[in-house]
Amino acid sequence: MAMMNAKQYEDSLRKLKLNVYMFGKKVENVVDDPIIRPSMNAVAATYECAHQAEYEDLMTAKSHLTGRKINRFTHIHQSTEDLVKKSKMGRLLGSLTACCFQRCVGMDTLNALSMTTYDIDKKYGTEYNKRFLAFLAYVQEKDLTCDGAMTDPKGDRSKPPHQQADPDLFLHVVEERKDGIVVRGAKCHQTGAVNSHEIIVMPTISLRQDDKDYAICFALPSDAQGITYILGRQSCDTRKLEPGMMDRGNQFYGGHEALVVFDNVFVPWERVFMYKEWDFAGQLVEQFASYHRQSYACKAGVGDVLIGATQCIAEYNGVQGASHVKDKIIEMNHLNETLFCGSLACAAEGHKEPSGTYYVHTLLANVCKQNVTRFPFEIARLAQDVAGGLMVTLPSEQDFRSPEIGKWMEKYYKGNPKVPTEYRMRILRLIENLTLGTAAVGYLTESMHGAGSPQAQRIMIARQVNMDLKKKTAKKLSGIPENE
Ligand code: SF4
Ligand code: FE
Repeated sequence: MAMMNAKQYEDSLRKLKLNVYMFGKKVENVVDDPIIRPSMNAVAATYECAHQAEYEDLMTAKSHLTGRKINRFTHIHQSTEDLVKKSKMGRLLGSLTACCFQRCVGMDTLNALSMTTYDIDKKYGTEYNKRFLAFLAYVQEKDLTCDGAMTDPKGDRSKPPHQQADPDLFLHVVEERKDGIVVRGAKCHQTGAVNSHEIIVMPTISLRQDDKDYAICFALPSDAQGITYILGRQSCDTRKLEPGMMDRGNQFYGGHEALVVFDNVFVPWERVFMYKEWDFAGQLVEQFASYHRQSYACKAGVGDVLIGATQCIAEYNGVQGASHVKDKIIEMNHLNETLFCGSLACAAEGHKEPSGTYYVHTLLANVCKQNVTRFPFEIARLAQDVAGGLMVTLPSEQDFRSPEIGKWMEKYYKGNPKVPTEYRMRILRLIENLTLGTAAVGYLTESMHGAGSPQAQRIMIARQVNMDLKKKTAKKLSGIPENE
């Protein structure tokens, strides 16, 4: 099968029999649910753009398995050029959708697994890489979206998995059979879960021997027996149920996260990619995290839209000529481009691993993500500064359309007389959406905690810098003997 387009992707989702809950009720029609649908649209953009000539170079790649053209989201990076294109693809899609388009977690999981399965086999003589490559071939052939599921609930953070009061607080194997294994547990905050065809589960932390039952990695169809999805709420989510579209801010796209419960789920051996090799859990986590920290070029793309919206509202408010407004928008651009620099740098400085996969420069990937935990918050603060308080006091679209009182909003919310009041309201709603509403999940809180909370990157930065070399040079240049 060739690469899917947006319509084919949507149709493929309709065939899934997902067990999804929201507001205490089972969602019978996931694809058309008004709260979920914008997130499906965002993933669909990753399919549609792959068919557009102007984006083809970034959105597609040549499979190293078959030589065929595939969607880059299913590709294993074969060069630093591939890694750079991945960063640019993230920015592109962020700038087109202004939200989390969800498909990167699967791409990052596939690439991390291409390396870890190879390394486990090398040490233990297992056949995980062969199994993984068969799975990858299937994903590429069908052009599937994979959900990479890493984050366990974790329970009492001071205790390792086997010491938790409830052993299910980390996903683990509960039964070994001739034909496969049975697993139980849950994964939290799963980006794009109900828009995915496959779910790939990984451990969430480095593990010791006592926790070997938790050192498992596998892939399953997202509608496998025993998997339940409970949709996460987002600020302002029920606006999508209201009449009219304006108050949503973003008219087309959104993201979603879910709690995914595995209640005694069977996994056949051919879909198991790590089984009790506890000494490789940490490596897999680190490799996935580093790739995903690179992926946050998406935030620079979302930042592009927020900066564009801020420039628009400055013009609609009539303050675009004020020097402090100009300077704030320059600062937003400076921060946004700095985010992108980190993602590009860790890609350009990538290297080839023994498996043949190209891996990002981990120190720079962690620096990239550390910036992402900060700069979008400052960019959002500046956007709110320029937008003004009306962003959060504006009455509803229904009031604006009201035959009785709409005229008062039309009159009193007018800024620049050449700009329709409605345009001013629409841009304010978009800024609200990006900094306080549904999109703020992806742009702000996810920037903080996605791909690991800030402290996780600081630990990696401390581990990765060559402090001895820095000290050695400092001593040499100041005339201190090397051994002092
Ligand atoms: Fe991709 Fe960004 Fe969403 Fe992560 S937050 S899945 S990197 S779009
Ligand atoms: Fe993420």
